[in-house]
Amino acid sequence: MSDYNIAVIPGDGIGIEVVAEGLKVLTSAAERAGIGLSFDHFPWGAGHWLKHRVALPPDAIETLGAYDAIYLGAVGLPGQVPESVGVGQVVLGIRSGFDQFANVRPVRPIPGCPWYLGHRRPEDIDFVVIREATEGFYCNVGGRFAPDAPEVEDIIALRSAFGESAEIAVQTGIFSEAGCRRVIRFAFELARKRNGKKKVTSTTKSNALTHAMGMWDEIFEQVAAEYPDCEHDWMHVDAMSMRFITNPERFDVVVADNLFGDILTDLSAALVGGLGFAPGGNLSQTGPSMFEPPHGSAPDIMGKGIANPIAAILTAAFMMEMLGEMQVAEAIRAAVTTVVSNGIALTPDAGGCATTEQVGDAVTATIAI
Ligand code: ATP
Repeated sequence: MSDYNIAVIPGDGIGIEVVAEGLKVLTSAAERAGIGLSFDHFPWGAGHWLKHRVALPPDAIETLGAYDAIYLGAVGLPGQVPESVGVGQVVLGIRSGFDQFANVRPVRPIPGCPWYLGHRRPEDIDFVVIREATEGFYCNVGGRFAPDAPEVEDIIALRSAFGESAEIAVQTGIFSEAGCRRVIRFAFELARKRNGKKKVTSTTKSNALTHAMGMWDEIFEQVAAEYPDCEHDWMHVDAMSMRFITNPERFDVVVADNLFGDILTDLSAALVGGLGFAPGGNLSQTGPSMFEPPHGSAPDIMGKGIANPIAAILTAAFMMEMLGEMQVAEAIRAAVTTVVSNGIALTPDAGGCATTEQVGDAVTATIAI
């Protein structure tokens, strides 16, 4: 009997290529640790839509609900399938189906990865960014209005230029007290479990977004009071972006709303050497969590065998960590570090000439448990 049943959705493009390597590494590490993993593959995604006009079947959420975790590659075939079908139905459908409210991106660069900071070493940096993933400015609330529309009457009065415009666009952020509280609590819980630094930094901009971020700040202070063993502080998002570059070693757990988190997580991908090295996951408290590297299906390099599988391999390690299997997670990370820092097998994005498969093989051969 398996200890964990994993649903695998390779998806499209390089998603299929990197997931194969992630599974190769994961299987080997789990076997050595005496942990039973079973994998069921689901062919959903943009390619599935091209063949069957279905990207995600209607009973997919019910099916996936039986698994301990979901491991996804990347979804989308831009130009062939509308993004609203591929990413929209599959990725966003699963995220909302299981209320995966915390998008988590570990920021732990590996010595030997492409490195853009002259004043810090990869070993100095180890933090995690948590992005609230269900509300905020991505709720699609608002509209485009003529200046004489009754909906924007009050807005027009705010600035003279508004009245001179042919059109007014309004985009509203929706922040719920419960939504903010649960992701901030999640951040403190993670800080307690991580590496002993136990520090949570809140991303805000309450000097400009007074209503939404004002509430966010208040909730952050309330939640922080529940965790007296954890340090806490906050930064405006503009200052935080600068600090990600100047003092990345000061962070432990960073929590942000959907919009700021989206931007900061891409900035943090640069800190670990680019999309080919950045792991990620969408965590739920009520259903299975979904672990996916943040990169897309990269149609420009699909089928060439040069996609970097490290992001997917580290994503598999992150999945094992979240399932409570630290030994397997650490063994995979250690093997990746050995392979990357010694330049044993690197894909072209990392300055090497190895294939996707060769990198997967090299990491598998290096696992020591
Ligand atoms: P999406 O909108 O789904 O994020 P995208 O096409 O905007 O997709 P990605 O596919 O994530 O962006 O990546 C942008 C580029 O970065 C790719 O076209 C590819 O050249 C490169 N890239 C992304 N992931 C990898 C990887 N794992 N290995 C090598 N190169 C990668």
